[in-house]
Amino acid sequence: MKFSDRISCVPASATIAITARAGQMKADGIDVVSFGAGEPDFDTPQFIKDAAKAALDAGDTKYNPRQLRALKQAICDKLARDNQVTASPEQVAVTFGGKHALYDAFQVLINPGDKVLIPAPYWVSYPEQVKLAGGEPVAMPTSPEGGFKITPEQVLDMGGDAKIIVLNSPSNPTGVTYTRQELAALGEAILKTNLIVFSDEIYENLIYGQTKFHSMATVEPKLADRMVIFNGLAKTFAMTGWRLGWVFGPKDLIGAIGRLMSHETTNPVSFALAGAYEAYTNPKASETVEAMRVQFEARGKHLYERLVALPDVTCVMPTGAFYCFPDVRRHYGRRIAGVEVTNSMTFAKACLEGANVALVPGNAFGEDRCVRLSFATSLQEIDKGLDRLGKLLG
Ligand code: PMP
Repeated sequence: MKFSDRISCVPASATIAITARAGQMKADGIDVVSFGAGEPDFDTPQFIKDAAKAALDAGDTKYNPRQLRALKQAICDKLARDNQVTASPEQVAVTFGGKHALYDAFQVLINPGDKVLIPAPYWVSYPEQVKLAGGEPVAMPTSPEGGFKITPEQVLDMGGDAKIIVLNSPSNPTGVTYTRQELAALGEAILKTNLIVFSDEIYENLIYGQTKFHSMATVEPKLADRMVIFNGLAKTFAMTGWRLGWVFGPKDLIGAIGRLMSHETTNPVSFALAGAYEAYTNPKASETVEAMRVQFEARGKHLYERLVALPDVTCVMPTGAFYCFPDVRRHYGRRIAGVEVTNSMTFAKACLEGANVALVPGNAFGEDRCVRLSFATSLQEIDKGLDRLGKLLG
């Protein structure tokens, strides 16, 4: 078959590919330590599962689920409570995960050739989704030395002829979180352009140490008419498989996404909505989320400390999400476990083949000096994997 140009220029997600490869090795009986996962290793909290089961038994099995409006209101209440953002249900679309929300928003905003600014390193799907919408992804370079953060000057330099800027704090893959002051400075620069802001806040609740989460929507309210927030239940509530996300934005944008969805997915999974509603409204939710956050925090600190103790490895300390993104470039030019290591891809290959440790090459995220390790795994696995890497690189 001859495929469309649209799909021919899009590779499969590298993170999903590496997780699948590690899974296959495990299935073949190899004792692989995988740092590839982009999902919590916890199960969905029981009270959320119970609500979905009850909805199924009560006959919530049809198109146009009655829960949808209630969930949109719960999301508005969440935005008011956690983000000091005033929202009405007409400003919220519920989608099949945050990924789908972003995809549809790009689809309804981008015309051929429209530029989208994406701070690099970036989550793998942003540039591909932009390309699928006919747009042109433009990477905004950052460096490990600069803490992987873009500057207001870059926004002013590059923002003149672009349509959208994507912000993702806390970030996948770097684990970096912007401070309120940094966001304010970026917001001031964005106000001098016509950029629409896509703020991907999916890791909002996973923040560590003294770090506080801030949304650009709160920090710079003057951006309200071009501010779009993406979020979802996957990471906060350990609900990756439920495929539930949402987007908040101006009514006309949400209306356009609604028109697209009416031909695409009709509505989200009916009984899953009851679980999502429970997650946002049950008073038990905050302590459950906090218990998971505390564990991620301990794991992140431990992984970071073990990584920076490896020879010739440096790392920006993660303040959010569940990723460390160490700089391993000083190993390039060496031969490790029989592999000529010249870039992040060959470094990851050496780790997998020489130590049975799976990590994701940074070039998938637009940063070839680094690799990504997820700490959504147990302390024991972190130690086992890092002992192996210590031996391999030492
Ligand atoms: N944004 C970022 C930055 C992510 O890391 C992910 C998940 N890997 C998503 C969005 C999408 O999550 P989901 O579709 O599972 O809600």
